[in-house]
Amino acid sequence: MLAVGIGNIAFAVLMVAYVRGASSTPGLPMWMWARMAFGATQLLAWARPEAGLPLLSIVESAGWVAGLTLEAAAYAIFFGYPQLRRYLVPMASLGVLLACAAFLNGLPRTQLIVYVSLTMGLGAFTTGAILMHPRLPGATALQRLIGANDMGCGAILAVWALIEILGSGITPAMESVAYVAGYLLLIVNGFGFILMSKQRDDARMQRLATTDDLTGLLNRRAFFARAEAARLLSLRLDQPITLLMLDIDHFKQLNDRFGHATGDEALVKFAATCNDALREHDILGRLGGEEFALALPGTDLDGALHVAERLRQGVVDTRLLTCGNHYTMTVSIGLVLVDPDEDLATALARADHALYEAKRNGRNRIEVGTAVRRRA
Ligand code: GH3
Ligand code: MG
Ligand code: MG
Repeated sequence: MLAVGIGNIAFAVLMVAYVRGASSTPGLPMWMWARMAFGATQLLAWARPEAGLPLLSIVESAGWVAGLTLEAAAYAIFFGYPQLRRYLVPMASLGVLLACAAFLNGLPRTQLIVYVSLTMGLGAFTTGAILMHPRLPGATALQRLIGANDMGCGAILAVWALIEILGSGITPAMESVAYVAGYLLLIVNGFGFILMSKQRDDARMQRLATTDDLTGLLNRRAFFARAEAARLLSLRLDQPITLLMLDIDHFKQLNDRFGHATGDEALVKFAATCNDALREHDILGRLGGEEFALALPGTDLDGALHVAERLRQGVVDTRLLTCGNHYTMTVSIGLVLVDPDEDLATALARADHALYEAKRNGRNRIEVGTAVRRRA
């Protein structure tokens, strides 16, 4: 118990240093306080028999309840339900009060531990059930694993406590299993929370590194990576892949006439209009400013022309609220069928050239790039 207690406090101290140096995942500071409470309680549990003060049993029970409450609050914050904290404090207070009342009414310490274990077991089982719920949005395999552990170990702890309360007789083997379950709950929820935080931070970083802030589309780098992967796959499957370059017409004028905010609205609406008209595996990215690129895997020139026309018309139909609907946005599009012998940059340069032709020929139109000239 001494080692586990010191371990938990060391854990919490490490987290204090970590949280001070970086913007932390929601719930991490709360989780740190939970570790601190568990650590202090475990140290107390180790020292209490030596101290010989019966009242310390109440403090110890309160410590377990506080640790459990703080950990539940950390999970509630992590999963985006910080309002649940409001219910946790009264529930925890009730738990501590019950522990005090039971002790003052002469309930032996061993019985108190059993009741606290029952509460912890049921609490862990509930947390596990929430994590395992099929409708928990975007739950990862790690979260499911922690949920399975919480459900399993929580159930074991609760059943053990119930058998104790009913006085049906506990074998030493059952006792050991209950201890292991309690220990696993502490360890898996402790490490699990850090891993979940890391997983969430990694996903956030990945999102930041690959998406354009304003439109939510792929940024230039991510577009090139995804389009190149799609090109190689199409080549391997012997399927066509088409590339489109899109550039909003007279965008500078729009900015100058209605202001930068309207320009931004136009970019967001443009992205949404295109997204609505595309299939899930089409790859759309913002290359910069008001220039966009689109890769259509498995789509030949005819199909791509249809898509381009749908996009062109969709953009014409898009209304911009911030300029009082008195503006018709248009887009020019250059389109090429990627040749199996050319690389992505060459194909994009051809599409860009076709786009230039579309601008030269009056804008709000689609031009198809000239075919790759083959050496005789
Ligand atoms: P063209 O029809 O030939 O494409 O002309 P254009 O005015 O659309 O093109 P030009 O390249 O001259 O102007 C692009 C403008 O886009 C200039 C720049 O200030 C603006 N711009 C670039 N990025 C953003 C942005 O994120 N938000 C806003 N509002 N404007 C941007
Ligand atoms: Mg433009
Ligand atoms: Mg441009």
